[in-house]
Amino acid sequence: MSKEEGITVKKEQDFSEWYTQVVQKAELADIRFGIQGFIVHRPWGFFIIKKIYEYFEREIEKDGHVAFLFPSVVKEEYLKKEKEHAGFTPEVFWISEAGDKKLEERFALRPTGEAQIYPIYSLWFRSYKDLPFKGYQSRISSFRNEMTTRPFLRGREFLFFESHDVFNTHEEVLKQVEKDLEICDKVLKEDIKIPFLFFKRPQWDKFKGAVDSFTPETLMPDGKKTQLASTHDLGQRFSKAYDIKVKNKDEKDEYVWQSCFGPGIWRTMASIIGIHGDDNGLVLPFDMAPIQIIIIPILFSNKDNKAVIKKCKDIESKLKNYRVKIDLTENTTGYKYNYWELHGVPLRLEIGPKEVKENKITIALRTGSKFSIKLNDLTKEIEKNAKLLDKKIEEKASTYFKDRIKETNSYNELKKILKDHKGFVKVPFCSMDWDGEKCADKLKEETAANVSGTLYPTEDKIKDKKCIICGKKAKHLVYVAKSY
Ligand SMILES: [Zn+2]
Repeated sequence: MSKEEGITVKKEQDFSEWYTQVVQKAELADIRFGIQGFIVHRPWGFFIIKKIYEYFEREIEKDGHVAFLFPSVVKEEYLKKEKEHAGFTPEVFWISEAGDKKLEERFALRPTGEAQIYPIYSLWFRSYKDLPFKGYQSRISSFRNEMTTRPFLRGREFLFFESHDVFNTHEEVLKQVEKDLEICDKVLKEDIKIPFLFFKRPQWDKFKGAVDSFTPETLMPDGKKTQLASTHDLGQRFSKAYDIKVKNKDEKDEYVWQSCFGPGIWRTMASIIGIHGDDNGLVLPFDMAPIQIIIIPILFSNKDNKAVIKKCKDIESKLKNYRVKIDLTENTTGYKYNYWELHGVPLRLEIGPKEVKENKITIALRTGSKFSIKLNDLTKEIEKNAKLLDKKIEEKASTYFKDRIKETNSYNELKKILKDHKGFVKVPFCSMDWDGEKCADKLKEETAANVSGTLYPTEDKIKDKKCIICGKKAKHLVYVAKSY
């Protein structure tokens, strides 16, 4: 591979440029669609996205959710009801013409699901016996007029997944928030190997319509936090706005209690690229890779390569349980190594005349090691090394994350830490309620860092500490970090 075809910057030195190159050169997205903020998901990238969707669908259905599908548009009247609640209106795209005629009633491209789904929910439920209801939609888009856009981080059309749950009591909502956290643990930590902290957000920085918002957040290599999902305790706020009522046991009308959960499909993709990737490109957990095993025949121009190619094909047929491919292109061996590394293929098998003669195969892991194995042990070795690769990815990510959480009680030290430290800093803070907003504003203004919130469901214990900003008695230990 020529220099230009590979990644030309180091991830540590220029993360932003590195990220752009991986997105393009590993063929994840095409940004040449022609309308800013709308990207094409290329097959290699979309395979990984589909995996993310599959994992979340699997877990949310295990938790008793059923899938539905709403249109991509929403009535203006319904969106207006949401105005005070969700506050997306300034970013909404409107459809107001068809052909050369103005529509009698304009409608919007959905910025999110509440304003579409809840008016219909108000028609679906009659009795407390109809609840709980847990529904979700997946593999859909949301549209918002974002000014600055980046593939998988921010777009004017971005991929969406949302569950909207309806209960008879507030306790059930809070239980669901913990279920949503378990789903994040299972999918993000176990399947995708992305570490995160789960926060209860401060009042001034929650989803506008929610009683409380909860978010798992991870850290990108530039030290900026990124929100991987969000789950909201909506209380009865939306049920009151959209008139979602049921008859209780005494035949009286009661507003329902609601929660909603939305894993960030794009943000998860961005985190896989950013956190697992290295100077050579993409790194993928074994199950997520479009091609899991690439077989590279070591060919010599002055020799008969038939035996090598035959051996490669034999091996491919033995590995039918995996997504496997032989690279028989005219490219040089070195080019092939680099190309598949850039694309994050987990395992590479190298077979040359020496391997054929000795009945051996050389196996190379995307995470770094390379060694020779006996052909007879092939399937056993594949299984073993796939697990080993996943473990390496997980260890690297979790070490990286742990190293990026610091703690201080002094504002001066916090300022110093935030200057070169890339990550979260745990600090004492006066209040997570609205009265803490002033301190958060000051922090943001002077350091560009935001308050993520307190750990949930188990908050850090605090004793006799003063708010790092105002000096009043601190009620919480909060985590602060810079964000996009
Ligand atoms: Zn304070």
